[in-house]
Amino acid sequence: MTDTTLDPQLTSWVASANHADTDFPIQNLPFGRFQTHEGGEWRIGVAIGEHILDLQKAGVIQHQDMHTILGLSQEARRALRARISAGLATGSADEAVWSKALVAQSEVTLGVPCDIRDYTDFYVGIHHATAVGKLFRPDNPLLPNYKWVPIGYHGRASTVYASGHQFKRPMGQLKTPDSDTPTLAPTQRLDLELEIGIIMGRGNAGGTPITIDQAEAHIFGLTLFNDWSARDIQAWEYQPLGPFLAKNFASTISPWIVTLEALEPFRKPFQRPNHDPQPLPYLCSEHNSAAGAFDVSLEVWLQTAQMKASGQAPECIARSNFADAAYWTAAQLVAHHTVNGCAMSAGDLLGSGTLSGTAREQAGSLLEMTNGGKNPIALANGEQRTFLLDGDTITLKGYCHREGFKRIGLGVCSATVAG
Ligand code: CA
Repeated sequence: MTDTTLDPQLTSWVASANHADTDFPIQNLPFGRFQTHEGGEWRIGVAIGEHILDLQKAGVIQHQDMHTILGLSQEARRALRARISAGLATGSADEAVWSKALVAQSEVTLGVPCDIRDYTDFYVGIHHATAVGKLFRPDNPLLPNYKWVPIGYHGRASTVYASGHQFKRPMGQLKTPDSDTPTLAPTQRLDLELEIGIIMGRGNAGGTPITIDQAEAHIFGLTLFNDWSARDIQAWEYQPLGPFLAKNFASTISPWIVTLEALEPFRKPFQRPNHDPQPLPYLCSEHNSAAGAFDVSLEVWLQTAQMKASGQAPECIARSNFADAAYWTAAQLVAHHTVNGCAMSAGDLLGSGTLSGTAREQAGSLLEMTNGGKNPIALANGEQRTFLLDGDTITLKGYCHREGFKRIGLGVCSATVAG
């Protein structure tokens, strides 16, 4: 590992960044936006321990436009990271000035990390696709295209919200199997989807595909992403064109974009089982096979209204892993998305799709955990859930660890069903 910003021995003069369990040691340096007071401007910062370095106040940038940072070349991006790392490192001559550019995360509002331009949601979680497919087609869960095409649809960026928000249980058309006609009612089957959000860096011109070899230079980094889903609305509306109002009422994104540079130590080979088809050549590269996947551990935490009222901490209801769950890599998604000439821009968001493992406790949605709502999950306080109730808060967490490297985290992605 030649990148000194990843040296596990590196420490920061920001003391909280040196705690063993922090998501934001000096080896991470994720980018996000924050507001010091309501209605104030969104300022660009880098998380460091329990603080944020205000990049403009530190003199590192002269603007508050995240798209300018997202659009940097890979080289310029690495230089910016090296500059920030050097200034935050123990013994840095910048400490005197930069310590005045620190704000506590607890004292600011964290926002959506960049204005989301376009949003596409994929379906790369093969165990999720198989489990959901089984509910609809027990004999033929995976459709024939699944192992050839990274399946996706165009979503809406207008309702991607910052972590910490509340949203109203959506209304929609519901039709139960025993009724001939639908009714308009609040969804009764509100679900979460545990996903990774891929934030695009530099875009491409329309008509010019991004090849698999170039793809990672166009990816800025990863976030956590919860693609809230109304399963009853979805079941009635999804044929023949796919998800629509069951999905676009709210999605939640975590505040920090963890860069590919910070994720470098946590790469894993991209492998296909021997009996599966190899991807078409435009979705293959030596680098992608050797190191195209990212080992990100993921968790889903639930805190019900009753748990909040009685002072109980949230309960972890599922654990999964990006690399184990995903059938396609981030680079393959970008190469596929643009192979027809589709233009992408800095700040585009690609959802991975629900990232479930094979076991029930690894399921990234309640649809899977409860077998389509048939088998409720039991919570430690005696409550049960099939789908989400008003007052429930779902928090996604993600982190990377590997022997010989500093653990880094993706932070949290949290939202509450307001009812
Ligand atoms: Ca989804």
